[in-house]
This record gives sequence, structure tokens and C-alpha cells, in this order.
Amino acid sequence: MRLVLVGPPGAGKGTQAERMAERLGVPHISTGDLFRANLRDETELGRAAKRYMDAGDLVPDEVTVGMVRDRLDDEDTAKGFILDGFPRNAAQAGSLGGILADKGLQLDAVVQFEVDDEVVVQRLLGRGRSDDNEDTIRNRQRVYRDETAPLLRYYSDQLVTVDAVGEVGEITDRVFSALHARSA
Ligand code: ADP
Repeated sequence: MRLVLVGPPGAGKGTQAERMAERLGVPHISTGDLFRANLRDETELGRAAKRYMDAGDLVPDEVTVGMVRDRLDDEDTAKGFILDGFPRNAAQAGSLGGILADKGLQLDAVVQFEVDDEVVVQRLLGRGRSDDNEDTIRNRQRVYRDETAPLLRYYSDQLVTVDAVGEVGEITDRVFSALHARSA
């Protein structure tokens, strides 16, 4: 199963991606986590990404796409993958299409997590990650609205929409029901 998860910051994609990855036996690939690991390890990629992440802006596409391309070359993606936080704009979506086409692969579905902006600001402020201050959060929401949300139309044929407000387990069940309903 090859899936992309789309939703605003704080929609709970990461939590759901973990649970879905475990159930499906495929890796969870989070670009945010990959960037944070690079920051922690003080790699060149981490240094290139830092100021964008601190501001809540997108890291430049060439950095991000290269990182994802490398990750999708790893053998553990043979059975599929869950992409969380990528693609986040039209150029990245085009690049992903190219990366997959080169491998003769296609996405099975794009899962959209729907949640209200105000609900997520409260969630994120409670989480306390270093880029989780109100200004950065608002900027990430704006970036989502302007750059990422338009992808939903681009992916309309593969789109599965899930209400992301509720209990964690309940939302996971909704995701799988929606995916089953789609493939049935
Ligand atoms: P959130 O979805 O809560 O904003 P993420 O962990 O997905 O958090 O991303 C954190 C930051 O990492 C983003 O604000 C951005 O700077 C960077 N980032 C993550 N994914 C991408 C991407 N696909 N393209 C560019 N930058 C990204």
C-alpha cells in the first residue's frame, strides 16, 4: 500500500501514520521527522533546513525532494510506504509522480485529515515542540492553505477524506473503513 497523508499542521497525521504503518507493515516516512533527525545530528541537510523550519516555512524543494527520493530508494519501501508531510506543494507532487513513475509505481490513495484551524492551534500549543509557538503555527497553517490544500484537487481521483476530530483509535478505524470502501 502506497499512501500519502495530507492535512493541516496538528491534524494528527503523525500519530495516525504510525498506527497505519504498523497495521500495514510498511514504513512511515515523515519529512518533518527526517528534518528533525538531521537537525539533531547537525548534518548539512539539517543546517540547510533549520531557518525555514524555525519560521514555519517550507524547506526549499530541491532539499526536500532529494531527501525523499533517497528515502524511497531504501529497500523497506518495497512493500509500500506512508508519506506524511510530503508532498506539500505542486512542485513536490510533480516530483513524487516522477520518482514513482521511474519505479513503475503509483499511489494507492491520498488520505485527507480534516480538522478545524482553532482546534489544532490548541493541540499544537499543548505539544510544545520548538516550532510550536503561535506565530509559527499560524504561518504553517497559512502555508498549508496556500500551497498544500490545492493538492487536494490535484489528487481528487485518489482522495479519501477522514474526519480527524475524535479519539485516536476511532480515527484510525475511520481511515481503514474509508480505504476499504474505496477499494471495494
Ligand atoms: P507540521 O505538519 O506540524 O507543521 P511537520 O513535522 O510535518 O509539522 O513539519 C515541520 C517543518 O518541517 C515544516 O514547517 C517545514 O519547515 C518542514 N517540512 C516538513 N515537510 C516538508 C516538505 N514536504 N517541504 C518543505 N518543508 C517541509
